[in-house]
Amino acid sequence: MEVYLATPRGFCAGVDLAVDIVKIAVEKYGKPVYVKHQIVHNPKVVDDVEKMGAITVEQVSEVPNNSVVVFSAHGSPPKDYEDAKKKNLRVLDATCPLVTRVHNEAKKYKKEGKKIILVGHKGHQEVIGTTGQSDMEIIDDRDDWVLPNYGNDEQIAVLTQTTLSVDDTSKTIKKILDSKPDAIIRNDICYATTNRQQAAIELADLTELVLVIGASNSSNCNRLRDVAIKKGVPAYLINGPEELDMDWLKNVSKIGITSGASTPEKQVQSVIRTINPKKIHNVGPGERKTIFSLPKKVKEVFSEEK
Ligand code: SF4
Repeated sequence: MEVYLATPRGFCAGVDLAVDIVKIAVEKYGKPVYVKHQIVHNPKVVDDVEKMGAITVEQVSEVPNNSVVVFSAHGSPPKDYEDAKKKNLRVLDATCPLVTRVHNEAKKYKKEGKKIILVGHKGHQEVIGTTGQSDMEIIDDRDDWVLPNYGNDEQIAVLTQTTLSVDDTSKTIKKILDSKPDAIIRNDICYATTNRQQAAIELADLTELVLVIGASNSSNCNRLRDVAIKKGVPAYLINGPEELDMDWLKNVSKIGITSGASTPEKQVQSVIRTINPKKIHNVGPGERKTIFSLPKKVKEVFSEEK
């Protein structure tokens, strides 16, 4: 059996940054540091940061007054910051800079009086954070959607969730432009989502089965699996070797493996060890390492007196 391993795969710059912010916060302030929402959508990463001294909560209301809280990489609505202020929390904002960019676009278009559409998945944490920035319509490509009725003099701006399917989103945008050709389109799908999907397409072309390693609530992992299935290859999303069904591998000689932007490489390697392939081939465009430095606001909080 041979394994075709996608490159790029795994942690993106936003995930690295978010995990680093929790680490630095625990070092500086001691345990516990609260994290609002899973720091990234991966249970093993959540487990790792909890072992360091973090406590994950879903709501700001669960954080004791005067504590330190890290807001997750997915971004948060303004109300969470207001609630944190009322509780005198020290907030370290680990929102990925590429999500912050979408928030800034929303605020800019709101100021300009434009109608905003967000192409995204309802209920996803990133969408909750982005829709909090301004009034906006959500178009969810999993639904049978129609564009709201806009007047001829109304200008619309279209933003997107960062972790969507590149292919499905371009179809959605085309459908919007068919009705509203003058719409401003900001395609916000991030570099990590895009290049991991490109590599998954290459994998699907070369293999009989694709395994995506990552969490079931990770948007970009789910999209990687969708990409492979659309190419006509069976694909499964598993957290690690414990979820691998050996029956899937029967009569298969070429297996593709990739992982989402929140999946630690050790999970990928443990699946490969379980499969024990004769040969491993690297597939995909490769990745120039992207690093985000600590955002200015986070640096300012870290530089305050304890
Ligand atoms: S997947 Fe993209 S938007 Fe999300 S944290 Fe990574 S780089 Fe940022």
